[in-house]
Amino acid sequence: MLTVKPLPAFQDNYIWVMQQDNTGSVVVVDPGEAQPVIDYLERTGACLEAILITHHHQDHTGGLDELKTRYSPRVIGPDNSSIAGIDEAVGEGDRFRLMGRHFEVMATPGHTLDHISFLSSGTPSLLFCADTLFCGGCGRLFEGTPEQMHQALTRFAELDDDTLVFGAHEYTLANLKFAQAAEPDNSARDTLLEECQKARELDRPTLPSTIGRECLINPFMRVHLESVQRGAVEQGDTHDAQATFATLRAWKDRF
Ligand SMILES: [Zn+2]
Repeated sequence: MLTVKPLPAFQDNYIWVMQQDNTGSVVVVDPGEAQPVIDYLERTGACLEAILITHHHQDHTGGLDELKTRYSPRVIGPDNSSIAGIDEAVGEGDRFRLMGRHFEVMATPGHTLDHISFLSSGTPSLLFCADTLFCGGCGRLFEGTPEQMHQALTRFAELDDDTLVFGAHEYTLANLKFAQAAEPDNSARDTLLEECQKARELDRPTLPSTIGRECLINPFMRVHLESVQRGAVEQGDTHDAQATFATLRAWKDRF
């Protein structure tokens, strides 16, 4: 069986570690720091088979050099990027196999232009989407446009409801508080906020989420709905999913 665990890094990053129970090998996603990964490998005696990189930001790539030097893993990352140390550059639609599972690359520009996400289909499917989709929110637009991010989230919404969503940051509480402002009437979101507040009090991660859950509670996944568009109109928008998305994203930046 494959397990996926978060290694906390910096203030609120998660480095995701995939491990097959029956083998000693692991794959890590976006090691912004090397030390949490080194500690994990030493603690478990596992060996680092591969590193997946989603985009060029330092808090996702900072540990790459040291981990490569120490363990010589396969390094798979975006093909339209300046990241040093990528061995296998991949883009939209590329496929590869790791840990006995198939992975497919989705180009998901928006947060950055080089941002890719990794989808591994199965029961359940796994989506490593880093700074594209968070629980209750989405990434800031540093390089891309609202249209690009909206398109990425629209594609995610078409995945199976039980797809596990591994975002790269513990932003859930702040996202859900914004979601209350953006869509006041949403009881599923209110219930989730209570659960997540309890989890954080116990220092537990609120991730992974699921696509089904995000479609129910995340305003950025719900911009086609009147209940979200109503709030955006008050911020100066028209009734349209695309424009609502852009308005919400700008509103969240100020929130
Ligand atoms: Zn980033």
